[in-house]
Amino acid sequence: MEYRRLAEFYEQIEKSTRRTDIINALVKLFKETPKELIDKVVYLSIGKIAPEYTGLDYNFGEKLAIRALARILKIPSTEIEKKVKLLGDLGEAGRKLYEELGYQPQGVLTVEEVYNGLKKIAEAVGVGSQERKIRIFMELLKKATSVEVKYLLRTITERLRLGIGDNTILEALAVAFTGSSLNREVIERAYNLTSDLGYVAKILAEKGLEGVKQVKIEVGRPVRPMLAERMGSPVLILRKLGGRCGAEYKFDGERVQAHRKGDQFWLFSRRLENITHQYPDLIEFLKEAIPHDFIVELEAVVIDPASGELRPFQELMHRKVKYVTRYHLEKYPVAGFLFDIIYLDGEDLTLKPYPERRKILEEVVKRTDRIDLVPRKVVDNPEDLENFFYQAIEEGCEGLVCKSLAPNSIYQAGKRGFLWIKYKRDYKSVLADTLDLVVVGGFLGKGQRSGTFGSLLMACYDPESDTFKTVCKVGTGFTEDDFKKLEEILNPRKLDHRHPRVNSILEADMWFEPYLVLEITGAELTLSPVHTCGWGKVAQNRGLGLRFPRFTGRYRFDKRPEDATTEQEIIEMYRMQRKVRVSS
Ligand code: ATP
Repeated sequence: MEYRRLAEFYEQIEKSTRRTDIINALVKLFKETPKELIDKVVYLSIGKIAPEYTGLDYNFGEKLAIRALARILKIPSTEIEKKVKLLGDLGEAGRKLYEELGYQPQGVLTVEEVYNGLKKIAEAVGVGSQERKIRIFMELLKKATSVEVKYLLRTITERLRLGIGDNTILEALAVAFTGSSLNREVIERAYNLTSDLGYVAKILAEKGLEGVKQVKIEVGRPVRPMLAERMGSPVLILRKLGGRCGAEYKFDGERVQAHRKGDQFWLFSRRLENITHQYPDLIEFLKEAIPHDFIVELEAVVIDPASGELRPFQELMHRKVKYVTRYHLEKYPVAGFLFDIIYLDGEDLTLKPYPERRKILEEVVKRTDRIDLVPRKVVDNPEDLENFFYQAIEEGCEGLVCKSLAPNSIYQAGKRGFLWIKYKRDYKSVLADTLDLVVVGGFLGKGQRSGTFGSLLMACYDPESDTFKTVCKVGTGFTEDDFKKLEEILNPRKLDHRHPRVNSILEADMWFEPYLVLEITGAELTLSPVHTCGWGKVAQNRGLGLRFPRFTGRYRFDKRPEDATTEQEIIEMYRMQRKVRVSS
């Protein structure tokens, strides 16, 4: 398959402003792809060569790309840099230069070559790896046409900026290989168990839907996490869970999914990045505490080893470094509180009800001062639930996660549902919770901030339509450092038109690829004529907006845009808020 076909696809997506156009383009691309290549085409369609959890990065910055390009075109790097400045984008600069200099490609570039080349680049490490990476990339540039060079440059520098979501790919796969988007659910389940779109696509293409149904959990591949709904009162929670529930402390740390096979360990974050290197101590503790092959979930928190008390969430951020040293281990010691087990010695436990999973956890874990189970209590009345909640808060937790004890209380990978309900302190205020919203646009600032953004357009996620819908414009709560950091993150993701997956009535001064999630608080949710969240679902010709929004200072790098607060959650929070007001 020629790489030209992928380049055409990227061009088409870049111009489209509707999600259906993206799906149609993907369906067409997948249908044309030979079966044995489908996994590679799926990865490349989002600029990758492997699922995110592998942590395979090109590690090939703009400087290296310019050096490779300069050698191919036999011009000085400074000339390319000038062009990049002028056009504001390396990909465009490459394309222009290929055209202006009349570069003749030496051969025809195939998808296989591009994929293999990019993979070798990502895998090159150690002494002399920079030069090796450049040479491999030059082999690709040599054969590229001007359009191809544009997308090769964007891919290698991780600036493809197409913003195609997982759900869109799943839907396109369903249509391309089964003829109907109704089969998406089966495909999605396999994805939830493996977190690997390419792998699922390959099975689908080669073995059909029946093959996909057989997909199993595997140690070393993260399972997409089960998530909780939220509710604001013990009475409602108990009613929803059939009068009884397992109430567990909700620790405010980092969610970690730990995998073990023999002496091999993997740790994955909430967004399924490989974070094994961040917690060498945790691995040692787990090795001792659970002498089996397993997949467990836990919350990692920084503790005071002397007292065993929890230290604030912010301290954990110091462990988010590339190289964890003895200094980090000693200054920020962690403990792990286990709350679920989904695999044990070859057996998938996801379909077992929660009480059984908890029992297995209790049986297999040898508790130490660094590994323990989350404290939990089975409660059947609101007073006990409320008391346990205050006990959790007292001990430094955020609140409780109340879990269903029913026979159907399976581990729902990748789903947010009412089998788990979180009950947090902030739900007691008028606004039921902070919101995790995606930056989709910006508005020009004044004074010191003229010429750049002074406030941001924030959106929630609607999984049904796989789009982002606006909730507020936020300009408060940012420090000077925040603005600097935001510019660094957002400027490379600037678009010249609204992203096709963004649904907005407001016309922003600049648009961004949905990427960054920020935690936003506010006074209350109100009906709004300008925001598209919940449009027409709560009132005619009205959406929901957040009044007096403010950035809390918390960047949710652990969330992908699709993990942002959903439209449905905001609608529920709006309703909950009204109930609070009526009853108070
Ligand atoms: P939040 O921002 O409130 O942490 P979230 O979107 O990250 O929410 P949810 O599924 O809504 O995730 O809430 C559950 C989260 O709480 C989990 O992701 C996990 O990190 C954390 N957690 C802490 N203790 C527990 C527990 N006992 N059981 C389940 N999750 C827990």
